[in-house]
Amino acid sequence: MNFSLITKLPHVGTTIFTKMTMLANEYGALNLSQGFPDFDTDPRLTGLVADAMKEGHNQYAPMIGVQALRDTIAKKYESIYNILVDAQDEITVTAGGTQAIFTAIATIVRPEDEVIIFEPAYDCYAPTVELFGGKVVPVRLLAPDFRIDWTYVKGLINDRTRLVIINNPSNPTGKVLGREDLETLAVLLDGTNALLLSDEVYEHLVFDGAQPQSVLNIPRLRERSFVAASFGKLLHTTGWKVGYCIAPAAFTHEFRKVHQFNVFSVNTPMQYAIAEYLHDIAYVRGLADFFEKKRDLLKAGLQQSRFHVLPCEGTYFLNLDYSAISSEKEVDFACMLTRQHKVATIPLSAFYKEPTDQQVLRVCFAKQDDTLQKAISILAHI
Ligand code: GLN
Repeated sequence: MNFSLITKLPHVGTTIFTKMTMLANEYGALNLSQGFPDFDTDPRLTGLVADAMKEGHNQYAPMIGVQALRDTIAKKYESIYNILVDAQDEITVTAGGTQAIFTAIATIVRPEDEVIIFEPAYDCYAPTVELFGGKVVPVRLLAPDFRIDWTYVKGLINDRTRLVIINNPSNPTGKVLGREDLETLAVLLDGTNALLLSDEVYEHLVFDGAQPQSVLNIPRLRERSFVAASFGKLLHTTGWKVGYCIAPAAFTHEFRKVHQFNVFSVNTPMQYAIAEYLHDIAYVRGLADFFEKKRDLLKAGLQQSRFHVLPCEGTYFLNLDYSAISSEKEVDFACMLTRQHKVATIPLSAFYKEPTDQQVLRVCFAKQDDTLQKAISILAHI
C-alpha cells in the first residue's frame, strides 16, 4: 500500500538554527548562530532542581502550572511594572516560549483570518499561523534601522485582521519598541477586533538604561493581548523549555483548553526550582547589565573590522553588515564563514518570507567572553 501525505507546511524545511548549528558542529566552528548561552547555568539553580526531585516533585504538575511559580511570575510583574497579574486566572506555565506562541495562535486563529507580522520575524510565527489556516500579512522592515511605519500598518488592518504579532525586544533585529510605539499601536488597534500576541522572551535584555516594556503595562493593549515569555532566556537554560503565557482570564480559559491537550503540563521539578530561585528579583534586574557588557565587548572588538555593526538595543543578538567585504548572498556568505573561518552565524534573510538580501548576518553574543574574543580575532581579519 502506498500512503501519501499532503503537507500542511509546503514552504517549511529544517529551521535555519538547526542547519547552522549542524554546520558549525561539522566544521568545528564557533557557534554564534543558534541563540543559546555556551556558559553554564548557576549551580544554585541546578541544585534547586535536584532538591525538588529528591523532595518527590516528580509527577504531573497542575495543568496551569505549579502555584509557587505562578505566584513568583505575578510578583515579578508587580516588582518591575507595579501591575497586578492574577496568578490563578491569567498565568499559564508552558513548555517554553514557542509553545506559548503556538498555543496562543491555535487558540485565536481560524481559517482565512489575517495575521500581521513584522519581518524580519522569528521563524515560528508564520508556519504556526498557516497551520491553522490563517493568512500571514508581513510588514517588511529593512536594515539598518528596521523602523515601523505605523501609518502603513494601520492601512493593513481590516475586518479580517484577527491578530498582530510583535516581538519586543526583537529577535533578530535587536530593536526595542518603547512606550511610545506601544501607545501608538494601542491607538491603531482601538475600535478593531484584532488581538495582540506579544512575544516578550527577551523582555529583560534591554540596554543603555532602557526599561523593560511589556504590553501588560499598557491597559488598552493588555485587554486584547496574549504575552509569551521564556525562562530559557532569563536563566540561561534554553534546554529546559519552561515559559509562560499571560492573558486576560477569558482568553486564558480558552488558551488552557488547547494547552491541556497540547502538552497537558510542564516538567515539575524545574517549576519548583525556578519559583524558588526568582524570589530574588535583583537577579532579573541585573541581567541587562550582564548582557550589555557582552554586547559591548563584541561591538568594540569589531569596530576596526570590515564588518559594520548595526545598532542593538536589546536581545542577545547583534547584526553585522558585511557589504564592505562581499556582495555574496547571505546564506552563501554565512556558510563560507562557517566552513572556511570557523564562525557560524545566521543569515538575516532567513527571517523574511520573500527573498531578501541585505548582506547582514545575525550573531549571538550570549557566549563566554573567551568565545567572543576568539570570534573577534577571526572576524577582525576578514
Ligand atoms: N531562539 C533561538 C534563536 O533565535 C532558536 C531556537 C530554535 O532553534 N528554535 O536563535
